[in-house]
Amino acid sequence: MNPRSLPISETFTSIQGEGVLAGVPSFFVRVSGCNLRCAWCDTPYASWKPEHTTRSIESILDEAASSHVSHAVLTGGEPMMFDAIEDLASGLRSRGLHITIETAGTIDRDVACDLMSISPKLANSTPLAGDERDPTGHWRRLHESRRINLGALRALVTRSPEHQLKFVVRSAEDLSQDLREIESLLGAIGAVRRDRVLLMPEGTTTPTREAQLEIVSLCIARGWRYCPRLHIEVFGNKRGT
Ligand code: SF4
Repeated sequence: MNPRSLPISETFTSIQGEGVLAGVPSFFVRVSGCNLRCAWCDTPYASWKPEHTTRSIESILDEAASSHVSHAVLTGGEPMMFDAIEDLASGLRSRGLHITIETAGTIDRDVACDLMSISPKLANSTPLAGDERDPTGHWRRLHESRRINLGALRALVTRSPEHQLKFVVRSAEDLSQDLREIESLLGAIGAVRRDRVLLMPEGTTTPTREAQLEIVSLCIARGWRYCPRLHIEVFGNKRGT
């Protein structure tokens, strides 16, 4: 691929739906292609069944400028897989936009960024044996071997004092397993701001009140944040929002 172009799944202007900047009008660039295959991936068109058009960096920068918003979100798929993301981020910064990078944190890259939004993938993300999207188990093995890269996580957190770690968690009996994994991972990474640890319920619908309350009480006890999906509440589970 031309070093000044990227495989783009979609671009759109909406509000940020997740994390500490939830509600902020933002221009989204979703690259297509991912080095993981989460069982519950909510953007399969950028991972399991990637679709893309090849876009020049210049055309994306022009579109960002015409969106007239002050924040840009580079997401995926996995944006850190692509060298050209560095030029795109630098170009957005030189145009004065605030940049959020949304990454699973498996690849370290020194890229212009104002909020490093890392979503480390817990064991609950690994595709189950027999998943029809993965008949040979190739992605199950690859995903499990790649989903945590402690070196990359430490580097990203250390380089970006403005960071957030979003964890997708399940409810009821599975939640305690997720919590043990999160605590262990936070201990291993070190230097993570506790008020920047976010728990987000799994799913592409608004969670039940019971599930919300369960996760909220855990966040209060630990000084973490509950992370709603505002875009789902406002728009439903639709592409381009
Ligand atoms: S890392 Fe993100 S884009 Fe990749 S498979 Fe997981 S949820 Fe989907």
